[in-house]
Amino acid sequence: MTKILVIAEHTGAALNPSVAKCVACATQVDGADIDIAVLGASVAGVGAEAAQISGVTRVVTVERAENDPAIAAILAPQIVALASDYSHVFGPSTAFGKDLMPRVAALLGVNQISDIMSVDGSHRFKRPIYAGNAVVAVEAPSDHKVVATVRTASYQAAQGGNSAPVESVDLDVELPTHTRFVGIETGQSDRPDLQAAAKVVSGGRALASEENFELIYKLADKLGAAIGSSRAAVDAGYVPPETQVGQTGQIIAPDLYFAIGISGAIQHITGIKDAGTIVAINKDEEAPIFEVADIGLVGDLFSIVPELTDALG
Ligand SMILES: Cc1cc2nc3c(=O)[nH]c(=O)nc-3n(C[C@H](O)[C@H](O)[C@H](O)COP(=O)(O)OP(=O)(O)OC[C@H]3O[C@@H](n4cnc5c(N)ncnc54)[C@H](O)[C@@H]3O)c2cc1C
Repeated sequence: MTKILVIAEHTGAALNPSVAKCVACATQVDGADIDIAVLGASVAGVGAEAAQISGVTRVVTVERAENDPAIAAILAPQIVALASDYSHVFGPSTAFGKDLMPRVAALLGVNQISDIMSVDGSHRFKRPIYAGNAVVAVEAPSDHKVVATVRTASYQAAQGGNSAPVESVDLDVELPTHTRFVGIETGQSDRPDLQAAAKVVSGGRALASEENFELIYKLADKLGAAIGSSRAAVDAGYVPPETQVGQTGQIIAPDLYFAIGISGAIQHITGIKDAGTIVAINKDEEAPIFEVADIGLVGDLFSIVPELTDALG
């Protein structure tokens, strides 16, 4: 029997949107029973939120003081203990999942399947390779537990409206002491979250300074959009690294994406393959970004962007 355990990413107060996307992926596996595991120090609220996701049979919560902050080395052995009842363990292909799931796979003695973008069978999946320029089918041995990350940009979140039972579980698992939490530094922003935003405005090297990025912020504010960037803009110090879109940044799927002064290198494009409408502003009409753009404006961003921002009122 196919039983899939989805590992929930959450803040302790709210569920990450990646969870409903992992569930959407899990529902593509024929006849699968889908449970969600929520590990934390105090996760009753998050567990209740998870129980609303359509297609979920049961939510399992594991509450332990050591789970806050949730570091992968501490979570992994607990997930391995939960996994004995399951044929599959799925996590998101986010920083959280990329940190955690390889540890789970290693402790279970299996290879991880990374970045599932579609399901061909219970042990056969498709995933992108070469910065998204090719798609490969990968198959796990049928007698192995499948430990996988899900490419969240490939899935629409499963709907809400469910009321699955929530069960609190005590695990008798010895936790490792070799890794401890020291601290976390995160950028604070009132703008929409890049991963979850329906609209994203991204700027590239052409902005030429941190100050000029103000143009991008103003347009984004008018649109209620999140801020993105190319790696060149990050490397030049114009914007913080968490804004980077692409192969080594964030893979996103907004409804509307603005690429402003961005050439359209494959490593950038791989981060926006699943975007709805792509608008490109570039002074070079031969720029590769125009090959993927739905709407292209050829010209100087320093005149087009302020005009566009003003036109939005
Ligand atoms: C292993 C690896 C991983 C990478 N990962 C990423 C990644 O995750 N994300 C990413 O973005 N890149 C990534 N890169 C880098 C990538 O190859 C490109 O170098 C980078 O995307 C270029 O950024 P850019 O488009 O801002 O700059 P450029 O390539 O320099 O392009 C600037 C563009 O702005 C246009 N322009 C200049 N002035 C103006 C103006 N006044 N008005 C309008 N247009 C103007 C130019 O015509 C040009 O097209 C990676 C590279 C490698 C090797």
